[in-house]
Amino acid sequence: MSKQAIVIQAALPLECDELVKQLHNVSRETRGGWVFWHGTYAGIDIIVSKTRMGMTNAAAATAIAIECFQPKAIINQGTSGGHDPQLNVFDIVLGEKVANINTVKTPVAAVGEGSNALTWVEAFDMLPEDESDPEPIRQRFYAADAGLMQAAQVVAAQYTEGKVVEGVIGSADCWNNELDRIAFLRQQYGTSVEEMEAASVAQVAIQYGVPMLAIRVVSNNITNNGQYNPDSGRACQAFVLEVVKQYATA
Ligand code: SAH
Repeated sequence: MSKQAIVIQAALPLECDELVKQLHNVSRETRGGWVFWHGTYAGIDIIVSKTRMGMTNAAAATAIAIECFQPKAIINQGTSGGHDPQLNVFDIVLGEKVANINTVKTPVAAVGEGSNALTWVEAFDMLPEDESDPEPIRQRFYAADAGLMQAAQVVAAQYTEGKVVEGVIGSADCWNNELDRIAFLRQQYGTSVEEMEAASVAQVAIQYGVPMLAIRVVSNNITNNGQYNPDSGRACQAFVLEVVKQYATA
């Protein structure tokens, strides 16, 4: 078993197939519904973890990885949908902060008054310092690990398939296609992109004290007509391997 490996996570096969192909001496292990590939890349111990899609899967895969393999660091990576019209498909967002954008306390509305997601301004903090507070209403952002972020910044200039920016990555078990909703979330959280795993991973990793960074490629952007391109998943994996090399040698 790898000692102090770096875990690279992906939800979907199209987000991890290339990583697995790059590993040497690879072995495959399944725990519950989650697959982990152990191997080395450029002499670095790596575990590729297929979390499957969504917040619950991502949290479970993260806890299993930490408990079973004691990784040195975790990179959650893969595709995402743009909230920022300046971001094009193939651009990469380094998650300076990640947030669960679906921890909502809605306003009260009577029978027949309907539901309007654009009024959902109150957020639940899922990790309050004061656990005796049953209604911790505040936004919670999880900051990137400084060392991982620094490694990503160093290799950002090498990426040729788009630009690399730092920003807020918003996560939810939701694919938003309503442009007013996307603008609202961007206004509330400052999101650059949305996806379905990173905040869940950060929430677990932070409680174990394991360094974590989310790196997301824009695979679609409805705010500027950016059509979904699955090849962006491959580009993100190549970038992440450079980050890992830089991190391991820093
Ligand atoms: N369209 C893809 C399926 C992606 S499903 C396909 O046909 O293969 C959702 C997964 O992609 C999640 O793991 C999520 O993290 C990511 N994702 C990509 N773009 C997204 C978006 N606009 N909103 C939410 N999740 C997105």
